[in-house]
Amino acid sequence: MPNMSLNKLPMPEQDPNIRNKNFEEVSLGYTEEMAIEEANRCLNCKHKPCVNGCPVNVRIPEFIAEVQKGNFAEAYRIITSTNALPAVCGRVCPQESQCESKCVRGIKGEPVAIGRLERFVADWYMKNGTDKIEPIASNGHKVAVVGAGPAGLTCAGDLARKGYEVTIFEAFHDAGGVLIYGIPEFRLPKDIVKREIEKLKQLGVKIMTNMVMGKVLSVDELFEMGYESVFIGSGAGLPSFMGIEGEGLVGVYSANEFLTRINLMKAYKEDYDTPIKKSRAVAIVGGGNVAMDAARCAKRLGAEHVYIVYRRSEEEMPARLEEIHHAKEEGIEFMLLTNPNRIIGDENGLVCGMKCVKMELGEPDASGRRRPVEIKGSEFIVDVDSVIISVGTSPNPLIRSTTEGLEANKRGCLVADESMKTTKEGVYAGGDAVTGAATVILAMGAGKTAAESIDHYIQNQ
Ligand SMILES: Cc1cc2nc3c(=O)[nH]c(=O)nc-3n(C[C@H](O)[C@H](O)[C@H](O)COP(=O)(O)OP(=O)(O)OC[C@H]3O[C@@H](n4cnc5c(N)ncnc54)[C@H](O)[C@@H]3O)c2cc1C
Ligand code: SF4
Repeated sequence: MPNMSLNKLPMPEQDPNIRNKNFEEVSLGYTEEMAIEEANRCLNCKHKPCVNGCPVNVRIPEFIAEVQKGNFAEAYRIITSTNALPAVCGRVCPQESQCESKCVRGIKGEPVAIGRLERFVADWYMKNGTDKIEPIASNGHKVAVVGAGPAGLTCAGDLARKGYEVTIFEAFHDAGGVLIYGIPEFRLPKDIVKREIEKLKQLGVKIMTNMVMGKVLSVDELFEMGYESVFIGSGAGLPSFMGIEGEGLVGVYSANEFLTRINLMKAYKEDYDTPIKKSRAVAIVGGGNVAMDAARCAKRLGAEHVYIVYRRSEEEMPARLEEIHHAKEEGIEFMLLTNPNRIIGDENGLVCGMKCVKMELGEPDASGRRRPVEIKGSEFIVDVDSVIISVGTSPNPLIRSTTEGLEANKRGCLVADESMKTTKEGVYAGGDAVTGAATVILAMGAGKTAAESIDHYIQNQ
């Protein structure tokens, strides 16, 4: 019997006033009964519009039909036939603008909670799954992957399943990319990422950490070592700043640095000695997912006031709706149509305020969004002792500057064609390194395409 409720079954969550003081996961997940109830909202549409909205074409109605029957292991097998990181994607994909935006149930009411069901299935399988992963026999070919983020991990997994001997070279001391160092524990528990990575290792993928490519080894040296192809999935970890006065003061962080200290180096735990400033009032400049994550971390570290300072209105904010909603519930204060033009320091060079100007929206700009325009004479000072800049990132130039023949565009992104082939023979690239900061699922999609292309390249040598 279909469930004709117009609304998604609500997700159980930690109370906002409790969770804004801890780093445990905010959303608690559906129970088996809840998952079946929500799955019964799916109409199993013949033309499957939801599948077209998914960058890796998860067979959505098929997996949901198995959830309806309580066949959770089969649902897991269906999802993982096209998506290797379902527990991650179920938590962080922007479903509202992908699969769920196409769902027929969304025409009148809310779409089926596809993301919540994907997460349920992945979590269920982690607890109850019994399938053993057997290493695949080698086909005798070696491939190197630079970067252990979603793009690199997906590419490595797909190649290993085809029998390639794959080694991932990762700059940090831990694998996972932004999933480990950017997205906070309360949104994506690190244990989940670690377990997904463990499965890749069981498949035979080798991961070498503390290997900054372009410094420790060059791409050309990888070829000399016998790797027949190289995939570059090195992300877009270089933070942008605004170029305003005061950005060098003590108490100004890039969102990347702030989040890395907290996530990768556990600065929020008493028994770790990574220094991070305890702030009273923090301004986060920006309106994307990264800004929301930084704001919610600052609140959890004990700041009394945490402001999101964004120069357009809430409608133009790039962050996921759920993240904006969660941030507001947790007490983050939104200063919209506001732009900083100077960070103010005291006599010791410590941040003690930020000068801002009010904005209004003018005509649409190249991005199609209405352009923010300053309102003359509307300057005011916000009382803050830390400022976190979250206005975007671009790819680090290290690899392209040390690899002859590897071209990048004006934004510093590696040039790759539709098959993810770069301008250098045998080198493929994908994810944020090619697109600039984007999404987990797009990075995974690029990793998949590159694995296919690398296989084709090596087999036709
Ligand atoms: C705070 C934050 C929150 C986000 N929230 C979301 C979200 O909710 N939903 C969503 O879909 N997306 C989100 N994103 C974006 C998403 O995480 C990225 O688009 C995605 O991780 C890109 O994957 P990638 O594999 O291309 O790069 P990355 O995840 O950046 O991985 C690249 C890896 O390469 C390594 N590396 C870099 N240079 C070298 C080198 N020279 N040698 C060796 N290794 C190197 C890095 O250390 C890193 O581990 C968020 C991003 C951030 C920063
Ligand atoms: S569009 Fe919505 S209702 Fe139709 S099959 Fe996909 S998830 Fe089910």
